Amino acid sequence: MFSLDKILRKNIKNLTPYSSARDEYSGTEAVFLDANENPFSGPYNRYPDPLQTEVKKRISRIKQVETENIFLGNGSDEAIDLLIRAFCEPRTDNIVSVEPSYGMYEVCASINDIEFKKVLLTEDFQLKTDEILKTINSNTKLIFLCSPNNPTGNSFRNQDILTIIQNFGGLVIVDEAYIDFSTQESLLTALKDNMNLVVLQTFSKAWGLAGIRLGMAFADSEIVSILNKIKYPYNINSLTLEKANEALISDRTKRIWINEILKAKEVLVDGLANIPVVKKVYPSDSNFILVRVSSVKDIYKYLVDKKIIVRDRSNVILCEGCLRITVGTKDENSQLLDALKEYA
Ligand code: PMP
Repeated sequence: MFSLDKILRKNIKNLTPYSSARDEYSGTEAVFLDANENPFSGPYNRYPDPLQTEVKKRISRIKQVETENIFLGNGSDEAIDLLIRAFCEPRTDNIVSVEPSYGMYEVCASINDIEFKKVLLTEDFQLKTDEILKTINSNTKLIFLCSPNNPTGNSFRNQDILTIIQNFGGLVIVDEAYIDFSTQESLLTALKDNMNLVVLQTFSKAWGLAGIRLGMAFADSEIVSILNKIKYPYNINSLTLEKANEALISDRTKRIWINEILKAKEVLVDGLANIPVVKKVYPSDSNFILVRVSSVKDIYKYLVDKKIIVRDRSNVILCEGCLRITVGTKDENSQLLDALKEYA
């Protein structure tokens, strides 16, 4: 059975967190002589809200998740790192994930000196649920699953993910960075029944805001409190909060972009399928497509010479010979298709 107390590192449990000026007084109308700020030259002379109350309220309305279940980080990458630091004891605990998948889970594990075990996906990039469950031992604290998965582009079956969640005593982190492009339902709806589920989403993809660095972790309120306790006091800056508040007034633009990208993806998939050097176009549930081509290195270089930059994923296990292509605008996608047609 899952028990947060059992998996939390002792030093984190016993930590007295830093208490910032804005933690101690969070009102807005006052003479502020508490944070050693410069009283002149607004509006950025003041520290930002350490708990990002306004942005969380807006996210809460859109996602139908209570604010106490939302953590905000400097990209989802911050949440990945903080989860590892909160729950994994260096040189003792381990993390289980799959390969191929998003590389940052393993990098963050290595930085924190945590063993990282990878279970290979099936040939069609699905989860080997039994093997994942067999790989877990008493020191496994976290399982990272990315769905839709990067770099393969497909979604895992939610039922497989739920089986893992329900048979594991640690936390399962489901990275839904690409969920807005997916035909599969988000696991946000499973949060209430599964205390050991953490869902990651981001403003970097469908929201079109990779530059502001804002990621979301949705989880049980106790998990959110732990992350808030160990983050840098003012981890989200005022400019980011401003831009996020602006974007969150409505998700209409985001929905328009998603539709455009999905339509463009269909055209791109059809176009790619008719190009002789393209050997396989993998099914995509995200805003990028994994494509197997002949002479992958040569094609990659040829495209770079034409100033068309895709991602060479040919060194990644199960992705041999593959390029990962982000869906661009109609015009950008046509440039890619024309260049590939001309390749001889
Ligand atoms: N998760 C996945 C699966 C990603 O592909 C990426 C970015 N490439 C991220 C997380 C990072 O997101 P963020 O920009 O929010 O740090």
